[in-house]
This record gives sequence, C-alpha cells and structure tokens, in this order.
Amino acid sequence: MAAANGSSEKHEGFEVPKVEVKFTKLFINGHFVDALSGKTFETRDPRTGEVIARIAEGDKADIDLAVKAAREAFDNGPWPRMTGYIRPTIYCIHIEFIFVSRQRVEQERGRILHRFADLIDQHIEELAILDTVDAGKLFMVGKLRDIPGAAHLLRYYAGAADKIHGATLKMSQRMQAYTLKEPVGVVGHIVPWNYPSTMYFFKVSPALAAGCTVVVKPAEQTPLSALFYAHLAKAAGVPDGVLNVVPGFGPTAGAAVASHMDIDKLSFTGSTEVGRLVMEAAAKSNLKPVSLELGGKSPVIVFDDADVDMAVNLVNFATYTNKEGIYDAFVKKAAELAKKSVVGDPFNPRVNQGPQARTSQCHVDKDQYEKVLKYIDIGQREGATLVTGGKPCGDKGYYIEPTIFTDVKDDMTIAQDEIFGPVMSLIIKFKTVEEAIQKANNTRYGLAAGIVTKNIDIANMVSRSIRAGVIWINCYFAFDPDAPFGGYKMSGFGKDMGMDALEKYLQTKTVATPLYNTPWL
Ligand code: ADP
Repeated sequence: MAAANGSSEKHEGFEVPKVEVKFTKLFINGHFVDALSGKTFETRDPRTGEVIARIAEGDKADIDLAVKAAREAFDNGPWPRMTGYIRPTIYCIHIEFIFVSRQRVEQERGRILHRFADLIDQHIEELAILDTVDAGKLFMVGKLRDIPGAAHLLRYYAGAADKIHGATLKMSQRMQAYTLKEPVGVVGHIVPWNYPSTMYFFKVSPALAAGCTVVVKPAEQTPLSALFYAHLAKAAGVPDGVLNVVPGFGPTAGAAVASHMDIDKLSFTGSTEVGRLVMEAAAKSNLKPVSLELGGKSPVIVFDDADVDMAVNLVNFATYTNKEGIYDAFVKKAAELAKKSVVGDPFNPRVNQGPQARTSQCHVDKDQYEKVLKYIDIGQREGATLVTGGKPCGDKGYYIEPTIFTDVKDDMTIAQDEIFGPVMSLIIKFKTVEEAIQKANNTRYGLAAGIVTKNIDIANMVSRSIRAGVIWINCYFAFDPDAPFGGYKMSGFGKDMGMDALEKYLQTKTVATPLYNTPWL
C-alpha cells in the first residue's frame, strides 16, 4: 500500500500508511491562505483521538472574501461563459455573406471537469487515506468505492455540461418565446462529515457543470480531502475563484454562508435542526433558494417470502420492520452477523467496522461517539431489548460494538431519531401489508426505504405507498450518478445526483418577442 508520503509501517499484520497532510489552509481565489483572524483548529484521528493537523479556521470575514472571489469569477470570469465541451472547430455562418471560421477553443467546462476526474483517479490512495484518518472511513471502502465514485460522478456531469438547453414555447398569441437555462450564480455548499468525498462531489460537480461558482464549507471534523480536491481542481484548470473551500465551524463559517447576501443558492446536507437554521437564515437574508438533504430514519421492510440471508446482509445497521413469520429467524441471523463483525483499525482490510461504522454513520469524533452511547442508553431505558453489543470497545479511539435492539416500538426515541452509529432497531412485527406501510410512513422523515420480497405485486404496491424519496427493492444503498437522491417530508427537498441535481443549479429565463407577418405561431 502506498502511503501519502510513500512510506508505511507494519501494524498487527497490516500496513498503516504514514499520513502527510499537505493542505491545511483556506482555498480562496485559487490560493491557499491563512484565515484573516490567524486562527486554526485541530482535526483529530478517530482511531486514536490524536491531533492529525491544525487547519486554518475560516469565519465570516473569510467567507466574505471567498464569496467576493466567486462573484467576480461568475460575473466577469471565463467559467460561466465557456462552452459546455470541447469543439475543436467552430463553424460560424453569417447571413450577409457566408463564411466558415475555424477557431480553437481550449477551455471548455466539461473537458476541465474530465481532467479534474483524471487527477482524482491518479490520487485515489492518498485521498482514501485522508478520509480514513479524518472521518474513520474504512480505507478499502474509500479506495474502491468513495474516491473512484467521486471521479465517476464528476465525469457524469462533465458529460452533461454541453447538454443544457431550454425549449421553444408554443405561445397563445402572436409571440415567439423560448426558455434559457442559466447558471444560478454563486452557490454556497455546506457539507457534513459522514461521506466527506461523496458529499463534496454530490454538491460541487453539478454546480460546476452548470457554470456556477462555489464556496464550500466542509464539516469541521473532515476538512482534509476537501482541501486536497481544491488543489486538484486548480491543477485541472478550474479558473481561480470558481471553487473556494473554507473550513470552519457551523455557527460561524456555516452561518455566514447561509445568511450571505451575495450567495444566490444554498445546498446543505446535515441534520434537521441545522437545516431549519440555514433555511431561516436564507429567508432572513436575500431569500436565496435552499435545498436540504437532512438524513432520515429509513426502514427496511422484510416480508415473509424474503431470503433471510439476503435481507440480513443488505444492510447491517438500519431500522427493520419484519413480517411476523420471519421475525425470529431474522433476529437470530442478524445477531450472529453482528457478533462476527470485526471492529478495529479502518486500515486493516479484515475489519468491517472502523470508528466509522459500516454504513458510514458513526462516531467521527468524541461528541458523535458520546451521542451514540446516549441513544443506546435511552433505548434500554425506554424498554427495548438489547440483543447484542451496546458497549464501547478498544482502549483508545471512538469504537462502539455493533448493537441490535428488538422489541422496539414505533414511538421510541431510537425508532424515531436518526442515530449515526452501528445500531440496528428491529421494530415490532407487522401482520398485513397495510400495517407495514402504515408503520414505514409513521416517521417525520422520508429519505429512503428498503423492501425485501420476491412478490412483484407487493413490491410495486409498497414502493408507491411509501412516502420517501428513494425505494430500494431487494437491494440497499443502490446509488448511481443517474439516480436522484433526496428526501420527502422532513428529510428535506431538492435532489443530489442525476439530472435533477443539475436543474438545482440552473434557473429558467423566458425570452419573448412579438411576431409580425408570420404564417403561424
Ligand atoms: P451532522 O449531524 O451530520 O454533524 P450538522 O447539521 O451538525 O450535521 O452539520 C452539517 C454541516 O452543517 C457541517 O458542515 C456543520 O459545520 C454545518 N453547520 C452546523 N451548524 C450550522 C449553522 N448554524 N449554520 C450553518 N451551518 C452549520
């Protein structure tokens, strides 16, 4: 395994790379700079709790600078004015005299985004190492899925950059009209810690492809890969001011993004409470449109005919709703699997739960770790049965045993709240399909749901009945660049991924003009 600086050390039979953090400053207008206040903050390794690096701490003044750079790059820079993709020969045909001009255009957006994706591919290990030491992600998952997935997503939108167009309208009066799809302007992105690379590219890729300029506020727990991506964007040819990255804390840097008068659009992923705050700040400032991805409590509904092994393996840590007949067998297998789960150093390829759990929702820092332990305590006090796990493990770092609760009632806190941890709740059994639907919809969230059944009619009926933005049938976490992801109800609104996400960063302008002496409208 190559290390960030080319070296590594042997450790309990596997290699742990020596980590070198190259970028620790804010990235504004194409340069790495200190915070205006000179302040820095620590980022810690969740494996050990030790400080990895000190990062420049951006706050309102730095966000102002980043927005100024993004505004200038949008209003006067080349990015929104580039064509979508490379066209080595441009033919211009004029009315008065027909001529063909040949003009080499080097700087199209799609091509630059492709180069950016190529650079990510060339640095996969280094980026995966950063997400492992910063967020506790399993190294192999980062290396094989998250980082290549980020490059894949970027390429998807690079390919979309020259397919952005409006429509010719059929007017009811003697008018000609058409719509233009224009980039929305300067975008603020507030990103959470649980998928540092994936979330970054959920936000940044469609916005850049649309021709927007952006200010990214990564989570304070996970700034490292975000800064590295800024460096790669510059190397790929993204012009200065187009992509700015300002690490800092939520109530200071994050709040400054949400309330900024010169940010035209805000895209946020994080908790419901903070989602409410940023929407309020957007309303109270310049009424910038907001999209919110707020997580959820996504149920997996397991029917009697399901293959139990498949159901248990689909997702280890989720909220399950089980048909009575399959409940006991399911609990037994789930507990066996949880006991077999290897908790440990995320660089160890045999480990399947690091300080960040398999579903990537866990205790990236001490606060998150303590929150999960508190939920486990509440679950027991509210009367759920703890089947396995429930305790911290390891003598350092933020590790918790894989935990399973049964006898969970719909209204218990552990059934209602999103728990970022390795905690599976097996909700009371259901007898009929209608009851299953009612239980699955009995939550204020609506991010996603899973259905496990061999019966196509049940699958069709249930998938249309559940009020959630994504339904996975006989699979789970089936993400794809072309598949929009985002919630219903209090899981938010506005999609990441797919063409829907590109639309978020475009606005529609109608252009109309009278028609004279034309044979038809
Ligand atoms: P999580 O529960 O996933 O940690 P949070 O909602 O706390 O989610 O954080 C998600 C992102 O929102 C982070 O980048 C964080 O810094 C930012 N944030 C937290 N508080 C605020 C706030 N008051 N205004 C704007 N952003 C905030």
